[in-house]
Amino acid sequence: MTRRKALQILLVVSVWAAFKRRGFAAQFSSIKDIEALQKNWKALLADGIKVPLPSESLKVSKDEWRKRLDPMQFAILREEGTERPSSSPLNNEKRPGVFACVGCNLPLFTSEMKYESGTGWPSFFTTIPGVFGTSTDYKLILPRTEYHCIRCGGHHGHIFDDGPPPTGKRWCNNGVALKFIPKHGQA
Ligand SMILES: [Zn+2]
Repeated sequence: MTRRKALQILLVVSVWAAFKRRGFAAQFSSIKDIEALQKNWKALLADGIKVPLPSESLKVSKDEWRKRLDPMQFAILREEGTERPSSSPLNNEKRPGVFACVGCNLPLFTSEMKYESGTGWPSFFTTIPGVFGTSTDYKLILPRTEYHCIRCGGHHGHIFDDGPPPTGKRWCNNGVALKFIPKHGQA
């Protein structure tokens, strides 16, 4: 191997290693980028799909929710349950589109806000603005931040501080509480 060839290989390997190290951070380097994702979320909504606004509050009795939702959806959305890790097909959903509340169709996240956290639950580093309310729960003794759909009040998951930069947040969502609306093609 010539010296020149060896230097070329070294250069390629070090660029590749630097890229790999930066990973996610290279993709989203600033909060401004995150704000752009939030502002432009409708670009991921399928053409001709009508969705409600966060302000269009949906109040339904517990008995009515029991009729509208299947038992698993009811347990999570209305009784703050948690699905088994790695049980949701949405863990592997990578198509462009929007994740909406299964209770009321309010869009909550886009595919561009999702990342692989390795936890077994669909995970997002930010959300569509203004779609969640939060509260503190003590179910596991240590306080956790619970979040719920602002429109129907349905529980979705918890927020943790181990997400990727620049937000550092992980919105850990039950897949059962979400429905995916692909930008193109069939759900
Ligand atoms: Zn909802």
